[in-house]
Formats: sequence, structure tokens, C-alpha cells
Amino acid sequence: MKVNTVIEMFEEIANKIESEKDYITELDSILGDGDHWVNINKGYQKILSMKDQLAEMSFDELFKSVGMNIMSTVGGSSGILYGDAFMKASTVLKDVEDIDLKKGHEFLEVALNTMMSRGKAQPGDKTMIDPLHVVVMSFGEALKVGSSKEDISRIISKAAEQGMLDTKDMAARKGRATYREDKGVGYIDAGAATMCYQLDILGQYIGK
Ligand code: ADP
Ligand code: MG
Repeated sequence: MKVNTVIEMFEEIANKIESEKDYITELDSILGDGDHWVNINKGYQKILSMKDQLAEMSFDELFKSVGMNIMSTVGGSSGILYGDAFMKASTVLKDVEDIDLKKGHEFLEVALNTMMSRGKAQPGDKTMIDPLHVVVMSFGEALKVGSSKEDISRIISKAAEQGMLDTKDMAARKGRATYREDKGVGYIDAGAATMCYQLDILGQYIGK
């Protein structure tokens, strides 16, 4: 994957997030304070506003810059978690000119580990970490058995959706949903939904 493709992908993610305003706001209003869509949308709009500068950067500069800007413009848990994840994961792309599957996996793995340590959360806590965790595991397995790019594309999109759906039955152990008596059981986590959208689109781009 080249820089231009990544920017195209950001545009597609931004459009998808923009179109899910009501649904994501409803989810975060039930389980949290209702601002998750505003936070994540602000992040992607910021990325779009930087498009021309990003297009001139190397991969590690690009993702570092995205992370720093998310950190400084986006509020809530999302700003810190995504900001730090993009910044730390950018380091695996030093001197990389074309992101291959192995690098892509490494990037997601570092992003996952950063989010887990920043948020002190584990898979199963009903957060945005859940779809990312399922994707990193399934993607890693697929690489090990030598799956094709087309298969990996489908595996990522499917894992992202599964990880999001899994949060429905989970009792929250992190985030504002823990304040609820029912711990949010019965509802998909808003942060898991927006994470799923991003990973699903990533999966689609890998297949292209
Ligand atoms: P806030 O919870 O501060 O209002 P957002 O509304 O932007 O921030 O994001 C809420 C989402 O953040 C939740 O749906 C959940 O997925 C995720 N989240 C909250 N706390 C944590 C944590 N400690 N670790 C990982 N993810 C978390
Ligand atoms: Mg919130």
C-alpha cells in the first residue's frame, strides 16, 4: 500500500463515520456520554484537512502526524487512545515505502498493544480494543498459514465485524458503561463499532 492509497482510505473511513452519526451517537448515549461520534468524526475531519501535507510525507511521518493531531484535537478516551496508537505504530513504518501484509499486521499489533496499555484494558472489556484484537489474531493466523491477499482481506473484514458484535453480550469493565448497573449488556459498544468501520475498510483496501 502506498501513501496515496492510505489517504484515499482515510477519506472513505471519514465518509463512513460521517454517515453513521445517528447510530453511533445513540449507542454512546446509551452506554456513555453520547460524544463518541463527535470525537471520532472530529479526528477524521482533521485528517482530511491535512490531506495535502500528508501526501508529501513518508509513512512514519504521516502516521505520527495523524496521531499527534488526533491527540491534540480529539477529546475523550478516543483522542488519547487513537492518538497514542497511531504515534507508536508509526515507528514500525520507518523507511517503509510500500506497506506489505506483514508490516500492516505489525502496525495493527503495535496499535493494539498501545491501546491496551494506555487504557489499561484487555480484550473482553467491551471497548474499541475488541474488534482490533480479533483482527490482529485472525490476521496473524492467516499470515502464518500463508493465506492469499484476497482471503486476508475477507478475514479482516469478518473479524472486525465479529469483534464488534461480540461486545454486545459483554459486561463493560472499562469506560463509562461500567457506571451502568447492567454494564451495558445487550448493546454494542460505540467505540467498537467505529473501530470496526475502520478495520472493515482497511480489509477492503487490502483486497484491492
Ligand atoms: P469518553 O468515554 O471519554 O467519552 P469517547 O466517547 O470518545 O470517550 O469514547 C468512548 C469509547 O472509548 C468507548 O465506547 C470504548 O470503546 C472506549 N474506551 C473507553 N475507555 C477505554 C479504555 N480504558 N480502554 C480502551 N477503550 C476504552
Ligand atoms: Mg463519550
